[in-house]
Amino acid sequence: MPAGDPPLTLRDLHAIDVARLRGVGDKRRAALAALGIDSVADLLSHYPRRYIDRRRQESIDALAIGDEATVFGEIRAISARRTRNRRSLVTATLGDGTGRLRLTFFNQPWRERQLPVGTRVVVFGRVETYRGQRQMTNPVVDLVGDRTGRIVAVYPQSDKAGVHSWDIAALVEEALARCRPRGLADPVPEAVRRRLDLVDRQWAIERIHRPATMGEVGDARRRLVFDELLRVQLELVRRKRRLEREVEGIEHRIDGPLLAAFLERLPFELTGAQRRAVDEILADLAAPHPMHRLLQGDVGAGKTLVAIAALLAAVDGGHQGALMAPTEVLAEQHHLGVRELLDGLEVADPGTLMGTRPLQVALLTNAVPTAERRRVLGEMATGRVDLVIGTHALIQEAVEFRDLGAVVIDEQHRFGVEQRAALRDKGDAAPDVLVMTATPIPRSAAMTVYGDLDQSVLDELPPGRTPIETRRVSRAEESTVWDDVRAAVAAGRQAYVVCPLIGDGKAESGDDPDGDDLASAVATHERLATGELAELRLGLLHGRLGPADKEATMEMFRLGHLDVLVATTVVEVGVDVPNATVMVILDADRFGIAQLHQLRGRVGRGRHASRCWLVADPTTPDGDRRLDALVASTDGFELAEIDLELRGEGTIMGERQKGRSDLKLASLRRDRDTVVTARRVAVEIIDDDPELERHPDLADELTVALGDEDAEFLLKG
Ligand code: ADP
Ligand code: MG
Repeated sequence: MPAGDPPLTLRDLHAIDVARLRGVGDKRRAALAALGIDSVADLLSHYPRRYIDRRRQESIDALAIGDEATVFGEIRAISARRTRNRRSLVTATLGDGTGRLRLTFFNQPWRERQLPVGTRVVVFGRVETYRGQRQMTNPVVDLVGDRTGRIVAVYPQSDKAGVHSWDIAALVEEALARCRPRGLADPVPEAVRRRLDLVDRQWAIERIHRPATMGEVGDARRRLVFDELLRVQLELVRRKRRLEREVEGIEHRIDGPLLAAFLERLPFELTGAQRRAVDEILADLAAPHPMHRLLQGDVGAGKTLVAIAALLAAVDGGHQGALMAPTEVLAEQHHLGVRELLDGLEVADPGTLMGTRPLQVALLTNAVPTAERRRVLGEMATGRVDLVIGTHALIQEAVEFRDLGAVVIDEQHRFGVEQRAALRDKGDAAPDVLVMTATPIPRSAAMTVYGDLDQSVLDELPPGRTPIETRRVSRAEESTVWDDVRAAVAAGRQAYVVCPLIGDGKAESGDDPDGDDLASAVATHERLATGELAELRLGLLHGRLGPADKEATMEMFRLGHLDVLVATTVVEVGVDVPNATVMVILDADRFGIAQLHQLRGRVGRGRHASRCWLVADPTTPDGDRRLDALVASTDGFELAEIDLELRGEGTIMGERQKGRSDLKLASLRRDRDTVVTARRVAVEIIDDDPELERHPDLADELTVALGDEDAEFLLKG
């Protein structure tokens, strides 16, 4: 790569196969591929897992028993044998010129081949004594070779494929040396780099691999993280702007009589946050391009009302509205709730004698009987149905709308972009789309996962709510909980008891491997009805009951004919019984933070003080911390941040995004501020140069780094 040629772009680096590097033959090539390294670009973005500061290494003669220590040295001897109970045992001797350390590996027979005499390694572990000699048992071993720098980079390695940290370090070094004459192109505008005080890319890549100090690692990392996040945001913002520009939408009428009548009839005032969200949505609806907006709000913040306002605005202009829920139970509940809220409202219909007719709200799920389904489908096609509420059934091919104007997706992370798109295809002009999350997600994640959407946030609860008190108890203390349930019922209130399973090892989402140990709704109902709560009226609700049974039970509970509802997570969302004040969650450590918060949100909806009991004997530290978080906070936005902290982004970004995205260094948790900065910069760049025509390097880099496929899934929730 002679000097004089232009600096190397990401595309150039992708085009150079690692096989071009010294010592990479077929076998090594395959081993590197197993680590995801095919090109020099892959190699240079195979970032160190950690760094060892050699000034802090300890000499063997200074090791104290019981300490955890990092030791550099050379393998002086190694042997393998089997223990009396047939376990494999490899022992090695490590020397560093000051003394000898014995390394013992159980059940790692491959260590014998991995560590021939003379190999330079760094080991990390706890120092013990064995027959008067210092030893480490099953230490972490990194093959770093004879690295000279003060800071040694340790790479993710593959013991199985026989590619070690020092192999990678050597290849990286060679690649860097060969790139140096031409240098690396830096597509991020100079002005942006200067403003954000970012180092240039060449320096960043060099120093993340070969830092002289840990401070350099920090600067390099900051730059490379920014690049990753900027690429993602540029792609999202560019797509968003493209849709706004190119897709023809409906200019809705937003001052119609139906919406006005609905708001007029509400028995309460909208909260400031609801008002703001409704205004944002109406402005989108009135605009000529279709709305793509995310409505986030804490449990009980009143998202449903905001959604209905959007749908009614569509109906006001003579269009239809659809509300799509993730489950049948939820769709049924929404249907009941919406019908109640909209009861008595009239829509204009010139074909009738009076010029108006009652607003028609229909339910469409796979559980609706065939004849009824057929009728609803027919009326959707002719336009007799104004609002339809349903599940995925709404986007099946045979479903036809006369004129779909607005869609609300109550999403709970379960609908992807394909579904949003399918629903969009149901109209002539693209309908406006509002996506609601069941519980808040952190801002950094929302900007990434839902980065193609605008955001409205309900950060205010309706007045008059009494805060929910949350307590943790172990299973052994369960009777306290039933005392509380009896007391609440005696005072005229109602209670929920939620179990992780339906019965016979079945959870709502499928079989549970720990089924035998967990509370099931069926068994708990039986146990309580004949034991602790024998005097009370108990109902049972889970997803395997028929729709009629479910509805009847819910109705009984709503009307106060049942005192206690024993249920699975089917009560998670949408159920709204203000008289219920006690929520008991059994084996609570089995649920995630968002789910627990959502379940807890079923109480505290009226004026009475409410309590949530978390009954569990957590078996993992994370389970423990989840429950503590719930006890400490009732703020869904705060809990969402803790959730991200505990689970990492993989789960929040969704399975499909894991491992495929371009985010190698960036963490939505650690780098949340950079997400916001990258978003801001992306908007600036795209609004100034929508198709990146004046930023060809950046445009090219997006294609290379994200690829078409990746760019597609970025848009899939
Ligand atoms: P979310 O879906 O955000 O969890 P909901 O839309 O189910 O919340 O609303 C929760 C409860 O609060 C419902 O009973 C609803 O009628 C009530 N509610 C909504 N907005 C208000 C308001 N502005 N003032 C009083 N109560 C409200
Ligand atoms: Mg709701």
